[in-house]
Amino acid sequence: MMTPQEYVDLHPLTTFRVGGKARYFVEAKTEEDICEALRWAKDRSTKVFVLGGGSNVLFSDSGWDGLVIKIELCDLADMGEGRLRVGAGTLLHSAVECAKDHGYGGIERLAGIPGTIGGAVRGNAGAFGAETASAVTSVRALDRETFRVREYSREECEFSYRMSIFKKHPELVVLSAVLSLAPGQSPDDLEKTMRETIATRETKHPQRLLCAGSFFMNPVVSDASLRREFELDTGMPVKDDKLPAGWVIDHVGLRGKEVGGAKVSDIHPNYIINTGTATAESILILTSIIKQKVRTEANVRLREEVQMVGF
Ligand SMILES: Cc1cc2nc3c(=O)[nH]c(=O)nc-3n(C[C@H](O)[C@H](O)[C@H](O)COP(=O)(O)OP(=O)(O)OC[C@H]3O[C@@H](n4cnc5c(N)ncnc54)[C@H](O)[C@@H]3O)c2cc1C
Repeated sequence: MMTPQEYVDLHPLTTFRVGGKARYFVEAKTEEDICEALRWAKDRSTKVFVLGGGSNVLFSDSGWDGLVIKIELCDLADMGEGRLRVGAGTLLHSAVECAKDHGYGGIERLAGIPGTIGGAVRGNAGAFGAETASAVTSVRALDRETFRVREYSREECEFSYRMSIFKKHPELVVLSAVLSLAPGQSPDDLEKTMRETIATRETKHPQRLLCAGSFFMNPVVSDASLRREFELDTGMPVKDDKLPAGWVIDHVGLRGKEVGGAKVSDIHPNYIINTGTATAESILILTSIIKQKVRTEANVRLREEVQMVGF
């Protein structure tokens, strides 16, 4: 019988390193553990939050007054012919390494993205034009309200930019994913691409600072003059009418802005950094200032990519 831990610090479980305590906390290593934890919560009318690698969440300073289930389903199986079945708690980077070792190509440009497969599938994590979605054949997921488990085809996953059916429906818990990759690649070549990708990531922003990566999603901008200004400023074409959120934040003069230990990165203004003394509250205040200024001065509405929890 599962007994959740009580009053567990959440900040060490996140890359922001801020946030209060979970009233109840369990690590789920099997699908049965998840079901048991969900039943435990249901019996007590306790709310549930599903945590992966904590690299895209901001827990409030008062924490989570319910049960946090940390997904630790870390199995990783080669199914042959370029296919891998990956448990939701497996680190995305471990899946990339495993694919390389088997000579399976297709996800090497996802190297270095923190977090788990569950988080990557839910948010369709991506970088440098590569997206988790392009490798996913199917996803096994549990509906935490009905306790029904089913396999979703790639089409049923409804992937789009940083979006999936699992993000639209938080009651769905990702259990595992089947990735279909291109077999017969040279592991050395894949490793080279991975190393180059990680090096490029470092040039865009130091990856080990306390943050959650890009805080806001890249907004669709209807104002053609702002899009033109971006093109003139960067020499880069606008794609799908979207501008990099970091460019817009810089455009309204907020690069380097600091509130109580939370700082807009000098290097990449869509990274909000905990300089060491930030609280969830100071991050919230800073990001509210950003949203407001970008709205009033650039007429652009920013939406968080980071999941805000317990506010
Ligand atoms: C330095 C840094 C760089 C980053 N760079 C990138 C990047 O290049 N591209 C990119 O896309 N992202 C990037 N990110 C953001 C982050 O790594 C991704 O969003 C990642 O996929 C989140 O996975 P996670 O396991 O950490 O999720 P968590 O942060 O634990 O959770 C995020 C959300 O996913 C949900 N979730 C987690 N697991 C499951 C599951 N099994 N089933 C259902 N829901 C689940 C949670 O409930 C929460 O709502 C970066 C973050 C950092 C810190």
